[in-house]
Amino acid sequence: MRESFEVRATDAGGRIGELSVPRAGHTLETPALLPVINPNMQTITPRELSSTFGAEALITNAYIIHSTDSLRDRSLEEGLHEMLDFPGVIMTDSGSFQLSEYGEISVTTEEILEFQRDIGSDIGTPVDIPTPPDVGRKRAETELEITQQRLEIAAAAPTGEMLVSAPVQGSTHLKLRERAGRHAAATSLDVFPVGAVVPLMNEYRYDDVVDVVGAAKRGLGTDCPVHLFGAGHPMMFALAVAMGCDLFDSAAYALYARDDRYLTVSGTRHLEELEYLPCSCPVCTEYTPDELRALGETEREKNLAAHNLFVSFEEIRRIKGAIRDGNLLELVDQRARSHPTMLDGFRALLDHADQLERTDPASKGTFFYTSHESARRPEVRRHHQRLARLSVPDRVFLTEGSASSTDAFDVSWRVIPPFGPFPRALSQTYPVSAEVPERTDDAARQAAATGIERLVALNPDSEFTFGHAGWSNSALKTVPDRVELWDLTARTGGD
Ligand SMILES: [Zn+2]
Repeated sequence: MRESFEVRATDAGGRIGELSVPRAGHTLETPALLPVINPNMQTITPRELSSTFGAEALITNAYIIHSTDSLRDRSLEEGLHEMLDFPGVIMTDSGSFQLSEYGEISVTTEEILEFQRDIGSDIGTPVDIPTPPDVGRKRAETELEITQQRLEIAAAAPTGEMLVSAPVQGSTHLKLRERAGRHAAATSLDVFPVGAVVPLMNEYRYDDVVDVVGAAKRGLGTDCPVHLFGAGHPMMFALAVAMGCDLFDSAAYALYARDDRYLTVSGTRHLEELEYLPCSCPVCTEYTPDELRALGETEREKNLAAHNLFVSFEEIRRIKGAIRDGNLLELVDQRARSHPTMLDGFRALLDHADQLERTDPASKGTFFYTSHESARRPEVRRHHQRLARLSVPDRVFLTEGSASSTDAFDVSWRVIPPFGPFPRALSQTYPVSAEVPERTDDAARQAAATGIERLVALNPDSEFTFGHAGWSNSALKTVPDRVELWDLTARTGGD
């Protein structure tokens, strides 16, 4: 267990956690959003972030401060918190982003960590090498070695009470990401950013983001707080949280506002095209789109940035509520409908159902079947695994209808898509107490058939009969041949 991070509640891979930040004397509840503050250009002041938006933490760039004479002197003299006028947690970045953009920077990890400590940063960052996606394995491996050396240097540096982050690199090479995660977790460092995913997000490659985070998480394990570096669009927060990310930073709120772009949880709109504002934040209740468009550039930018922040923080709160209620995957499902690439992300998330299952609570609120992706949720998989624990008599009737009244069977079990078979006595237990649509689909039936297949394989000496409600051949083909099939719709003849 890492001393500074404690997990309070989980749902799928998502969790509510507490990150103790000793230098700030503050415990940060996660998932948390850290707005990015450009020390040279503040659309919204750090004081407003705290008082108006309730931001408990922000992130700013120590490299920019270090390389701007006036800021460097002031920050060393006054300290970062006073210079920015922010009472919460301040995390600082090291210049790695500048390194990836411009190819070189003029500080070492030792120097920038010492500087971050001296200006009073609460969470510092070493200079890692952000290897972009899709590079050759050789390059990714060589750069990862340098990053890992920097992490060793950071772990040994006299950083005092400041928490220090340990970026996880490895490009799109999943084995490298996993290895990087394992190495980072083995250091004494505190916060674990998954780095260099911005290019993937810029190209809408949310499935690749999920795979990269999934690989890093396999290496990091479940007790490391994970920061998804550069993920600032509220549309993807739920997906990233479900994968196990705890911290986000948003420069998007300000950058998008500069281009008159309006963030929503289902994508980005341009102010130009909006006839109505689909939001009830203070900005959207005060202005109409026409009034916003009529404002001067600075005022308009500030108001759009404020709206962008309101929706971002609102989404973080909604996600926390969903984790508490146990319906995070239903929220991800909703978000996935906003763009086909988000749906790819959700489907990639479900490819990791095994990994999610490890932290998914055994019992929570009612399971809602809301799309055919629901058939691939970790709860369905877990139900299939648990079939091994049930004792099964010699002659079993599995049925979507009522229990058999003949004595041809020792027992009648229910079958509910997507779960498959279970004893009637478990009907009120999670997850088979689910709300499922009456007009079910083939994905749910196929998942149920996989459950039947497993039950039959586990009990080679028992005989099974399956009474189904008019299943198609494609759903039935997974049911083993030795199961006798009764089509209940044919038998009742519609009476
Ligand atoms: Zn708004």
